[in-house]
Amino acid sequence: MATTTDVTTEAAEAAIEAISGAANKDAAFSMALSQDQKDIREWVHGFAADVMRPVAHEWDEKESTPWPVIQEAAKIGLYGFEGLAQFFADPTGLTLPIVNEELFWGDAGIAMAIMGTSLAVAAIFGQGSGEQIGEWIPRCFGTPEDIKVASFCSSEPNAGSDVSALRTTAKFDEATNEWVLNGQKAWATNGGISDVHVIIATVDRELGSRGHAAFVVPMSEAKGISEGAKVSKHGLRASHTADVYLDDCRIPVGYVLGGKEKLDERLARAREGKKNKSNASMATFEASRPVVGAQALGIARAAYEYSLEYAKEREQFGKKIIENQAIAFTLARMKLELDASRLLVWRASWMGRNQVPFENAEGSMSKWKAGEVAVWITERAIQILGGNGYTREFPVERWHRDAKIYDIFEGTAEIQQLVISRAISGMHIK
Ligand SMILES: Cc1cc2nc3c(=O)[nH]c(=O)nc-3n(C[C@H](O)[C@H](O)[C@H](O)COP(=O)(O)OP(=O)(O)OC[C@H]3O[C@@H](n4cnc5c(N)ncnc54)[C@H](O)[C@@H]3O)c2cc1C
Repeated sequence: MATTTDVTTEAAEAAIEAISGAANKDAAFSMALSQDQKDIREWVHGFAADVMRPVAHEWDEKESTPWPVIQEAAKIGLYGFEGLAQFFADPTGLTLPIVNEELFWGDAGIAMAIMGTSLAVAAIFGQGSGEQIGEWIPRCFGTPEDIKVASFCSSEPNAGSDVSALRTTAKFDEATNEWVLNGQKAWATNGGISDVHVIIATVDRELGSRGHAAFVVPMSEAKGISEGAKVSKHGLRASHTADVYLDDCRIPVGYVLGGKEKLDERLARAREGKKNKSNASMATFEASRPVVGAQALGIARAAYEYSLEYAKEREQFGKKIIENQAIAFTLARMKLELDASRLLVWRASWMGRNQVPFENAEGSMSKWKAGEVAVWITERAIQILGGNGYTREFPVERWHRDAKIYDIFEGTAEIQQLVISRAISGMHIK
């Protein structure tokens, strides 16, 4: 009889095949959604409206991981590799941002608790061997009966925007055939509460970011990995963020993503001054930026819809407040900015999925725009709600707190501009 692990691994293999097959189809870019995409959007929206929204305030106040909600998501197939793989396999690339927009429309903190795992999954999927993908990705999610989350740990106290400055080391111990990791990771989503931690460490500091590699460190097996202080945050408070310590943490040779042989070849090329395609953190961030933009878009849409309804109801000076151009024009601009952001997000997602190169840093464009729009729209939503907007009795202040992170993580707004300006100029703008 097949065990749960076998079943999950088989499903993972099928999913990988579906994704690989779909990559070659060269889907044309179209805004017209298929019936499948519409059905998925409606299904996720239903979960966001019926399961997430009613408990959003509660989990924000609790500031802890909403395990029961993640479990509900797992039971219906919304949390898990099969679900994620199905969304990713869509050759148009639009399903993943659509799913993210709906979830983050429901509640950003809870949605991050559900989607936070996918950054580690993206790293394993992007850099791992077939065998590593089959082994580690199912372990990132666990099963609906025994939920797990995963964590992607790149940032450090002194290496945020400047990923090349990271100091966590991975040294190979030939005597035991193990890697030995030492260092401190900062602000890791799901850090310390995950089983699977993907740790970015330097194998050769002289090579800067070209000397980095990604390692899988399972908390249940490895000694020397521990959770540091949990971070108390401005927003996304249902999502767990913490430091992670690595203290002579030993892992088997095969836990480096892609395998040691490939890593050695890559390092040798770098030492000869030859170019490698990308480094470990950057590869993960590039692929995930449009999806992160879609998350910001979800928060922004929630605030736009709520303030539109409020403005149509609320009366001052004997008329609905939307009858004042100042309010109506603000709402018109909100809708404009929302739709413009979605176009950029969908374009970048389609390009990423169909391997169209980001020649003008289109991934960064989409994340930068959607992040700024989310902060602006949620702030304007507070203004439209007036005193009510400023209180915790109404959700817009939470959405504003949640939105701000989209100017900061996965590359700050300034770093996106750096990436875009370098791409359009071909020059090393500093
Ligand atoms: C809630 C949360 C979750 C997170 N989750 C994760 C995670 O799961 N994994 C992970 O690895 N990291 C995570 N992070 C870390 C996040 O990616 C970093 O905070 C982010 O990259 C910015 O780095 P920093 O905070 O060190 O800011 P800094 O790099 O110190 O930047 C400070 C300011 O200086 C500006 N700046 C820096 N360099 C330049 C420049 N060259 N030109 C112009 N301006 C510049 C920045 O734009 C910013 O405004 C998370 C952070 C938070 C708050």
